[in-house]
Amino acid sequence: MPAFPGVDFIDFDSLLTDEEKLARQTARQFVDERVLPIIEQCNRDGRFPLDLVPEMAQLGFFGANMQGYGCAGMSNVEYGLVMQELERGDSGMRSFASVQSGLVMYPIYTFGSEEQKEKWLPALAQGTAVGCFGLTEPQFGSNPGGMLTRAVRKGNRYVLNGEKLWITNGSISDVAVVWAKTEDEKVHGFLVEKGTPGFKAWDVHGKWSLRASITSGLAFNDCEIPAENRLPEAEGLKAPLMCLNQARYGIGWGAIGPAMACYQTALEYAKTRRQFNNRPIASHQLVQEKLVWMITEITKAQLLALQVGRLKDQNRVDHTHISMMKMNNVAIALDIARLARGVLGANGIVDDYCIMRHMNNLESVYTYEGTHDIHKLIIGERITGIAAYM
Ligand SMILES: Cc1cc2nc3c(=O)[nH]c(=O)nc-3n(C[C@H](O)[C@H](O)[C@H](O)COP(=O)(O)OP(=O)(O)OC[C@H]3O[C@@H](n4cnc5c(N)ncnc54)[C@H](O)[C@@H]3O)c2cc1C
Repeated sequence: MPAFPGVDFIDFDSLLTDEEKLARQTARQFVDERVLPIIEQCNRDGRFPLDLVPEMAQLGFFGANMQGYGCAGMSNVEYGLVMQELERGDSGMRSFASVQSGLVMYPIYTFGSEEQKEKWLPALAQGTAVGCFGLTEPQFGSNPGGMLTRAVRKGNRYVLNGEKLWITNGSISDVAVVWAKTEDEKVHGFLVEKGTPGFKAWDVHGKWSLRASITSGLAFNDCEIPAENRLPEAEGLKAPLMCLNQARYGIGWGAIGPAMACYQTALEYAKTRRQFNNRPIASHQLVQEKLVWMITEITKAQLLALQVGRLKDQNRVDHTHISMMKMNNVAIALDIARLARGVLGANGIVDDYCIMRHMNNLESVYTYEGTHDIHKLIIGERITGIAAYM
């Protein structure tokens, strides 16, 4: 598999430090050598390559932008560049790292007790434990505040009842971060360990998107957990939304990966595929227009991601900045994948090429972690001062 050259039209790399380029190169090489040779088969089989998890852990990809507990202590820009490369491999690879880092390690790190941190963070960083994040329910997706899952205090235990759906890594997780309402109607986070009586996980089948990723349902049926498994500092919906912000930031970078892969594939194809007088299809204005649009949007997405990353590293980022980055970068990636599919003609629909896999994956990415339209509403509220969700 040839090494990926990158897509850099305006000397974007001159904006990066040597450490940032090194973090990207580490992930780039891992994806070129370990992910790309196997991922189409994983996608066909509907299988996540679990055997790559120890290597990802060793390279510092889990909790990469956290300090201590065996985490790599990367900057947010370095972390973002790693997410970009992982998703260039497959959205499932980035989803695994995003969930483990932003949705499991982050809430334990931010809202957990010292005992919870010591117990879980080193194991999650080393990949010897896998985690999942249970917020979405069958009836409540964009509006998680309506959740029905309940946690009732009974002596030194909590009793959980309810159901979660569309949970990445649910069935392979050693620990689930589960969001539930207590008797005062406030949302709290709970750590539910694999094998706890009353806790069941199963997999969603029949997906045409994110096939190389595990998506599960979780059920809690009078599931009793020790009271000390509640995350002590997480109270209210703000807590899971803070976690989503971390994961959305990773997605904003991640989406640039498939955009670059699809653009690069379309460019190479257009230069070699010949039609009409044996001329390459890249010689036609209509094809060039598509390629130019793609690289322009990739360039804009890179600059948006970098500026949001710099703001995050300076503690100046607002959740609406991250919404704009997630909304824009996923949308352009999906449009690029669709255009690239067209440039390849019939060849665009088979998995000899990465395009259709990325395109299908991006349909999920467009929806999860706040749908495209919900991010529009978040930004709309910020600029007008008027919430338009109802
Ligand atoms: C592969 C995959 C993995 C996932 N992983 C996880 C996970 O690990 N953990 C987790 O908790 N969840 C996860 N999710 C769930 C995901 O976050 C939800 O699917 C998402 O929040 C949208 O919810 P919904 O599917 O119920 O859609 P709905 O909320 O029912 O929305 C349907 C449509 O209505 C629109 N809509 C909704 N409300 C409004 C409004 N007020 N104004 C205008 N339009 C509106 C939406 O934009 C969307 O187009 C995953 C989903 C997928 C597909």
